[in-house]
Amino acid sequence: MLYAIKQHKSPETMLNIELIPAFEDNYIYLLTDTETGTTAIVDPGDATPVQHVLDERGLTLDYILNTHHHGDHTGGNQALKKRYGCTIIGPAADKHRIPGIDHGTKESDIVSIGDSKTKILETHGHTMGHICFWFQDDRALFCGDTLFSMSTGRLFEGTPEDMWASLTKISALPDDTMIYCAHEYTEENGEFCLTVEPNNEDLKARMDEVRQLRAQDKPTLPVSLATEKKTNAMLRAGSATRYAAIRKMKDDWD
Ligand code: ZN
Ligand code: FE
Repeated sequence: MLYAIKQHKSPETMLNIELIPAFEDNYIYLLTDTETGTTAIVDPGDATPVQHVLDERGLTLDYILNTHHHGDHTGGNQALKKRYGCTIIGPAADKHRIPGIDHGTKESDIVSIGDSKTKILETHGHTMGHICFWFQDDRALFCGDTLFSMSTGRLFEGTPEDMWASLTKISALPDDTMIYCAHEYTEENGEFCLTVEPNNEDLKARMDEVRQLRAQDKPTLPVSLATEKKTNAMLRAGSATRYAAIRKMKDDWD
């Protein structure tokens, strides 16, 4: 079986980031700290495609980073831990519901993946306890199901106010931060955004690009925070109340 892998490495960064498609529309990310060879997997919903890639490369796995407890993000934890003896890091608040978790993290904790450092951002909303992994030096944010390109995760556990606070936190990161979402929902999300802002030229341009990528079965991710700020109707809502209204419109539209 073949799995398309995309490489997103710039010469000055130490972190190599690759994308492993899983299930229908999930992305699992393989991170390699190039200085030390330390590896991490973000949100392995399924162990099989991960194992395939690692074995093909002759790599072992040092860490699993979980953004939240949902099965499509943690389903591969136990099998990978058993095979590679990796350390599982996730939200402290979800220690009771993340399989195999070793270390629980809180807001602003710093986790080292070899020489690469990631800061924990608590982003309640999709679930309570959801976290994002922000690699500041590498300009990368692994945001699980909090932010999607041109949408957000559904509010399964948190309130619109919780999610709006999380989006505000993400908006404050540098504009050139690349957003690595856990799902390929971009095209459908963009169609919805066009119903909210039919005259948004940046949105139309992004959708042209997205449609072309999807027609070739290519990922639309990562996407820059700057692009999201210009195109994501939910991120652009401006208030928790307006966000709640747009989120509800999207729930009804789906
Ligand atoms: Zn989820
Ligand atoms: Fe998910």
